[in-house]
Amino acid sequence: MMRLVQKLIKMIMKGVNQYGAHVNIIKLPIVPKVIKMKNKTILSEEFLKSINNTYTHLIAHHSTGFDNPETKDWDNIDIYHRSFRMNWNIMVRPETAYLKLKKKIELQGNIIKVGNSYYPKDQVLEFYKRASVLMGEELYLGQYVSTYIKNTKIETPWNAIGYTLGIERAGGKLVVRYGRKLNIRQAHCYQEGMNSHGIGLLIVGNYDKAAPDGELWRFAIKVVREIKNARKGLIVLGHREVKGVKKTCPGELFNMKQFREDLKIRRK
Ligand SMILES: [Zn+2]
Repeated sequence: MMRLVQKLIKMIMKGVNQYGAHVNIIKLPIVPKVIKMKNKTILSEEFLKSINNTYTHLIAHHSTGFDNPETKDWDNIDIYHRSFRMNWNIMVRPETAYLKLKKKIELQGNIIKVGNSYYPKDQVLEFYKRASVLMGEELYLGQYVSTYIKNTKIETPWNAIGYTLGIERAGGKLVVRYGRKLNIRQAHCYQEGMNSHGIGLLIVGNYDKAAPDGELWRFAIKVVREIKNARKGLIVLGHREVKGVKKTCPGELFNMKQFREDLKIRRK
C-alpha cells in the first residue's frame, strides 16, 4: 500500500499520469510561507501598545468575593460597576436602567418601588436626580422632582468597569480580562491621582482570607512583567500602599514585597 502511494506521488511530481502520459500540472503561484509564531506574551499586543507614558504606576487589587474557577466573576464586577448601586447592591442593572427609570416606579408612602424592589423614598429621589443628569434629561417624578436629598449612598453607573485589566479563573483556567481602556480616566484608586496615571490590575479573589496559590501568583507575575517591559520604570504597588488608602487591598495575605522581588527573578 505504502509503495503504491509513494509511486503515485512520484508520478504526480513528475507530471506523469498512471498511464505514463504527461499531464499538465497547474503551477500554483508561490505563496510565501506563513510561519505562525507562537504568541509569546500572555497580554495582547493591542493592550501592550496602548500603555502610554502617562502611566507611571500599576496598582494591584483584589475582590471582596472568591474567584469561582468555573465562572467569569469579572463579568459580574463589570455589570456592578455599570449599574445603579446602593449599599453594595445592584439597584438597577445597566441594560434595564433606562426602562425602569422611565416606567416602573411606584410610590407607596415613604417607600418607592423600582421594578420588583423597594427603596426608601429619599434615596430614590436622589437616585432620580443623578440619573436625570446622567441621561441628560429630566425624568418624570411628579411632585417630587424638585426635592433634593443629601447624603445618599446611591452610586450612578460608570461607563466601564473601574479596572484596566483583571486576572481570574474561568472554566478552570487562568485568564486575562480587559476592562477600562487606557485612553480614558481609570476608576480604581482616586488617591494620589492614581486614576489618571495608575493601571488597575484586579486579581479576582479575596486575599484577606487565603493567600493566592502558586499558579495564580506565577501567572500574575508574568502578566505584570509584560506590562513592566512595555512601560519601563513602572512602579508596582498594592492598593493599600497608596497614601491615604485605608484598605487591606489586595489582601492581608498578598505579600507585595515578595511580589516585587519575584518580578525581578526570571524563571523559565
Ligand atoms: Zn483595591
